[in-house]
Amino acid sequence: MANTFLAQSKDFLTAAVELVFPAVCHSCGTRLNYPEKQVCMGCEAELLPPSEDSFGKSLVHQGDNSLPYQEEDFSFSFARAAVAYDQVAKTLVHRLKYDAYQALADYFALKMAEALENYPEFEDYELVTAVPLHRVRKRERGFNQSELIARSFAKYSGKSYAELISRKRYTRSQTELDFHQRRKNVSGAFSAKSAAQGRNIIVIDDVFTTGHTINESTLALLEAGAKSVAAYTFSRAIG
Ligand SMILES: [Zn+2]
Repeated sequence: MANTFLAQSKDFLTAAVELVFPAVCHSCGTRLNYPEKQVCMGCEAELLPPSEDSFGKSLVHQGDNSLPYQEEDFSFSFARAAVAYDQVAKTLVHRLKYDAYQALADYFALKMAEALENYPEFEDYELVTAVPLHRVRKRERGFNQSELIARSFAKYSGKSYAELISRKRYTRSQTELDFHQRRKNVSGAFSAKSAAQGRNIIVIDDVFTTGHTINESTLALLEAGAKSVAAYTFSRAIG
C-alpha cells in the first residue's frame, strides 16, 4: 500500500516537474510527446546502425585525418557499436559528456541492449566493465559516462557489471592530441583487477574513435588474466 502511494506520489511529482520544465529532445530541442524519452522519434530515426563491413575495409576518421585502422591492430576480439556516429549521435554524446545529462547514459544503454540481437557474438560475454575516467577528471565532471552506460547496459542485458580497470596515471585530454600522441598518451595507462581472470569481458564506452583507450583497457584486462575481451560502444566513428 505504502509503496503504491509512494509510486503514485512520485508519478505525480514527475508530472508536475514536466509541466514546469517540459522534457525536450536532447538532439533537436523539440518538446517530447509521450512515450518519447530523451530523444524525439524524428531524431531517433536518424540513429542508424554502423555499416556492417566497417572494420578492416573502411577507415576511421579522426578530425581531418583519415587513418587506415584494421581490427588486427587491436587486442580485443571484436568491436561493435549500436549506432553510427552521425550528427544526432554526435550531439547526444556531446550532451552526455559536457552537459551532464546522465539520463542519456541510460538511453544509450537501452539502445545498446536492443542492438544486441544483431550481435550474437556477445552471448558468451557475461561480464561488463567500463573504460575508466581518472579521478581528477571524474571530480571535475562528477561522473564517468562510460561507467553509467556500462551499469545500465548490464541491467538491460542481464549481464553483470564489475569495476575492473583503473588508470595508473593522469592522461591528457584525448581531444587535444593528434593520432600518434593519442596512442602514446594512453599506452600503459591502465591496470585491471584479478577478478578479470578467466572471464569473457565486454568493455563499454560511449564512442569508438581511434580505439586506443579501449585497446589499452583490453591489454590491462588480458594482463590480469581475462580469457577474452570485446568492445561495445553506443556509437562508432567510421569513414
Ligand atoms: Zn529530436
